[in-house]
Amino acid sequence: MEQYIKEELKIPLSPSVDVLVAGGGIAGISAALAAARSGAEVLLIEKQCILGGLATAGLVTIYLPLCDGRGNQMSYGIAEELFHLSISQGVQERYPNAWLENGTKEERSKQRFEVQFNPQSMALLAEELLLKNGVKILYDTRICSVHMERDKVRALVIENKSGRSAVCAAAYVDATGDADLYWLAHGDTEEYKKKNTLAGWYYQNGREGVKLRILGFADAPEDTERDKGEALLKRRFSGLDGKENSELLFASHKATLEDIRQNKLKDDSFEPVTISTIPQVRMTRRLCGEYTLKESENDKQFEDSIGMVGDWRKRGMVYEIPFRCLYSGKIRNLIGAGRCVSVDDGMWDIIRAIPGCAVTGEAAGIAAAQTCDFSQLDRRALQDMLRKQGQKIHFAEAGLASDTFPVNTRRE
Ligand SMILES: Cc1cc2nc3c(=O)[nH]c(=O)nc-3n(C[C@H](O)[C@H](O)[C@H](O)COP(=O)(O)OP(=O)(O)OC[C@H]3O[C@@H](n4cnc5c(N)ncnc54)[C@H](O)[C@@H]3O)c2cc1C
Repeated sequence: MEQYIKEELKIPLSPSVDVLVAGGGIAGISAALAAARSGAEVLLIEKQCILGGLATAGLVTIYLPLCDGRGNQMSYGIAEELFHLSISQGVQERYPNAWLENGTKEERSKQRFEVQFNPQSMALLAEELLLKNGVKILYDTRICSVHMERDKVRALVIENKSGRSAVCAAAYVDATGDADLYWLAHGDTEEYKKKNTLAGWYYQNGREGVKLRILGFADAPEDTERDKGEALLKRRFSGLDGKENSELLFASHKATLEDIRQNKLKDDSFEPVTISTIPQVRMTRRLCGEYTLKESENDKQFEDSIGMVGDWRKRGMVYEIPFRCLYSGKIRNLIGAGRCVSVDDGMWDIIRAIPGCAVTGEAAGIAAAQTCDFSQLDRRALQDMLRKQGQKIHFAEAGLASDTFPVNTRRE
């Protein structure tokens, strides 16, 4: 390909902050909030004009379960706080009454601790919450490149209406969903080889009021109790190629338009209310961390756990998340959160759900406020702070196992 050689870079540099959070999805919101509450000066950079990423702009509005499907809550802290925030202006669907109205354990084991929320309210409420906590937000701003100084990120080059400039921080959180910072910094990353099925989730209004229309399904494991559904298209998408992303959007828009036309024939009050403004891709690229958590490691206890998730697809499958999945020692002041942490393909499909993004985001945010060298972090201090903020770290704390179990062994 023909090459364009750029001129020497000479751009304005903003004053340095303690923590820079790249991306304002659920992981970025959680990281920014946790870092700010730990006393850090935080700047969050988001290329969209609202917070929430896939969960709001992407219209993925089902807050998947905080529980293990057997009546035990697994994810706490900011994951639980954002759950409540998302429905503080009203629940859309799937009200979990057994969980929110003191149901018995038997009742809770029959109902997952999940809910459907309003994306617009969630985006506005998250912004209000971050601003109240002193987080600075820069919208409509894209991170274009990462500048390294030896084994640390020195600055990010960003672009918005003011043109190009550079921003610096002591520590950086990659909450871009696609491990963009790791990739731009030439850190070790891995792509999701299977690629993504096409989705076209949108909101519509009609005889039954405003409803979420779910077009296109994820690849579901054989033994899941969840809807399996049909793929919209045979073609799959990486989510990592500029031209391909436009083709993904064309295909998603075409499927949406066809769906609207068909429904209008049956109900002339049917009308679209909102379509997604970002590509609806689940797994794209992840960082290769100090540890890669596997789907087969359910029930395994880790000394450096930062919190837990349940499998949204299968009851009784629970995971502790090791801190080592969040960073690679090769880039000392960069940490990942959300759907781009270090996991195998099976675990990716579990941790990418909203609770996993919030749990990893919270831990990354606190860690970033504590150190600018993640390989040297005092993990006990991180766990203490997480507990103080309401997170539960090990199975025993969620009432699942005895404290006497040695770490790095199975619970059962
Ligand atoms: C079709 C579909 C259905 C799903 N269904 C569910 C479900 O029912 N329930 C559930 O819990 N989860 C579901 N998920 C998964 C879940 O929604 C996402 O994995 C989760 O919300 C991701 O959060 P995140 O913060 O890690 O990433 P994202 O939401 O992707 O946020 C990343 C943010 O970073 C910003 N960003 C990226 N690059 C840059 C850059 N270079 N500069 C500046 N900003 C940048 C983006 O604009 C975005 O706001 C689904 C996902 C999809 C695609």
